[in-house]
Amino acid sequence: MTDVPEAAHGDVTAGETAAPMRAGGSTGLTIGVDVGGTKIAGGVVDESGRIVGEARRETPATSPPEIVAAIADVVKDLRSEFDAEAIGVGAAGFVDANRADVLFAPNLAWRQEPLKREVEARTGLPTVVENDANAAAWAEFQFGAGRDVDDMILLTIGTGLGGGLVLNGELYRGAFGVGGEVGHLRVVPNGHLCGCGNRGCWEQYASGRALVREAREFVKSSPSQAEALLERAGGDWTMVEGPMVTEAAAAGDTAAVELLEDLGRWLGEGIATLAAVLDPAVVVIGGGVSEAADLLLQPARAAFARQLTARGHRPVLQIRPALLGNEAGIIGAADLARRR
Ligand SMILES: [Zn+2]
Repeated sequence: MTDVPEAAHGDVTAGETAAPMRAGGSTGLTIGVDVGGTKIAGGVVDESGRIVGEARRETPATSPPEIVAAIADVVKDLRSEFDAEAIGVGAAGFVDANRADVLFAPNLAWRQEPLKREVEARTGLPTVVENDANAAAWAEFQFGAGRDVDDMILLTIGTGLGGGLVLNGELYRGAFGVGGEVGHLRVVPNGHLCGCGNRGCWEQYASGRALVREAREFVKSSPSQAEALLERAGGDWTMVEGPMVTEAAAAGDTAAVELLEDLGRWLGEGIATLAAVLDPAVVVIGGGVSEAADLLLQPARAAFARQLTARGHRPVLQIRPALLGNEAGIIGAADLARRR
């Protein structure tokens, strides 16, 4: 269960810690399902953002009908113990403006998938579909690191770089539902090739994949300065992974610290670009790489402060760590289903 702080936005019931109600009553409970490339994680969530029951399945990533069946299985597991009034599904992909169809999911074989209709047909519960980073952003806004402001951006630094925008208290989807894809801002003309087909996307410089690429290149080219990383990778530079960099940096290894500083610099400079357009009060940093905490966030804050337009003459946003961890997607999807 996630330790959720009291909510501060006016329209939320704050601080209620009532025990979950079991099947049979009117509950105010909704289900959030986070569909990722490897696992489908579902949770029953109450009005204060607490997860009161959980279930999961592996993702049958190559078969759209099997993914829907697995989502229905997760929901069935949860409903065997809890009554729920609606389902929110967070999916790693482009979701249409009606929050019904997944237009494209790079890792899930979904193309124009009518997910809302299919989940509703199998479960009989009203369903909303949302981009997974949007769902996580909503959770951090409502119950987590952004609960005291009205304008917030979430950046999730996992394998890639995801984003979700909450502007003026509302999740911002754009005209076609596919806004907030901040990872594909171009930051380097003719830079590294991105999975989206373009070159130089921010994601290619500020993500777990970027950290691994840079770390391996460093270990390969400067093995004598990379002993701490090389040792963690069993002596093979091709086996260096992101968490090894974080561990080595936390243990004080200079090379690893510098690799995270580099990533933090890309992050901070990109945040300055977002601030120029959107002027949020808070940027929340989540995702696996954010476990590096201040080793990442301090260089990000420094780079942001150097790059911010009109610096010294304007209020300055805060860069904060996420509070809800991996469960943000479940909590946000469930809360969006409640507000459908
Ligand atoms: Zn891209």
